[in-house]
Amino acid sequence: MKWSIRIARIAGIEVKLHLTFLIFLAWIALTYYFSAGPQAAINGTVFVILLFLCVVLHELGHALMARRFGVRTPDITLLPIGGVARLERIPDQPKQELLIAIAGPLVNVVIAGILVLFLRQRAAASDFADLNNPHVAMLSKLASVNIFLVLFNLIPAFPMDGGRILRALLAMRMNYVRATQVAAAIGQGLSFVFLFFGFFFNPLLIFIALFVYLGATSEASIAQLRDASSGLPVAEAMVTELKHLPPTATLEDAAETVLRTSQHEFAVVDNSGRLLGILTRDDIIGALRRRGGATPVTEVMRRDVPAVRADEPLDRAFASMQQYGYPALPVTDAAGRLLGLLTAENVGEMMMIQSLRPRPGKPSWRLAHA
Ligand code: ZN
Repeated sequence: MKWSIRIARIAGIEVKLHLTFLIFLAWIALTYYFSAGPQAAINGTVFVILLFLCVVLHELGHALMARRFGVRTPDITLLPIGGVARLERIPDQPKQELLIAIAGPLVNVVIAGILVLFLRQRAAASDFADLNNPHVAMLSKLASVNIFLVLFNLIPAFPMDGGRILRALLAMRMNYVRATQVAAAIGQGLSFVFLFFGFFFNPLLIFIALFVYLGATSEASIAQLRDASSGLPVAEAMVTELKHLPPTATLEDAAETVLRTSQHEFAVVDNSGRLLGILTRDDIIGALRRRGGATPVTEVMRRDVPAVRADEPLDRAFASMQQYGYPALPVTDAAGRLLGLLTAENVGEMMMIQSLRPRPGKPSWRLAHA
């Protein structure tokens, strides 16, 4: 996350700029500069900034609609390939997901509509001289790009909004996992169509094909995971047989523990068993290289990873783990004492075991309108 800088805060949502986006802007400016001079460089850069402003508004459309259903969006990040609104969770009701997914493209429909109306008025009021006006030319280009954004986002494949719309529509008729599988299969099928046309017409389509294929695959596995873990508590999947580190431990001590165990994540725990922070194997190795073995682990441990309770729903804990990229979640009791760790590896193992074991009294599928 260090690769992003905060540029604004709108309605409690942080708008961040990924550093690669700035590199992309510089690249655009330089390309225009060397091919058409300084004025073209300015125009090109302004156009890209306006375009990404439309992307931010699109993402805000999703975020504000999500907020109506009680789903928070901590931040929106701008990347050269577009914007990403990080929703805290996917709503359970298909109708809510449908409205959230559709809100983004709808914003671009409105922007395009306003621009077209404005340009029409200009064209009617003045003569054709206006067409050569660079500002007017830029606005009409912006209108067409917004129309393109709508069409692109409505492609019925993950990770595009169209994929979510399709899944939500399917989930009104079948259970969520099945709906995701069908939507993902349609997306994968489409990716082959893109690939085919990409080879013959536009190589950009090959890139989109890959993007769509990966999106469909990851969405299907997340849905499967959600289904396997639904209704189970965190306690079911946490690891309890663990080596912990005392607050007095140095990185040298930690490295020794890494060698002696097969653990990837370590908790730092005080004398009374209370959790202070966690460290991953990579954190330890990286810090060892940068700061030396005598550094106390308390100086490099992560303190920002939230602890969960053993009786919390596993699917929710796992969703936040994925969403925020936490390597593991510590599980604590009411007094803050560590009970165990929830790691991605363990959730995966639990899923495998769950899939082999019939669950009495609980069907492995859920009704869409539970
Ligand atoms: Zn969108």
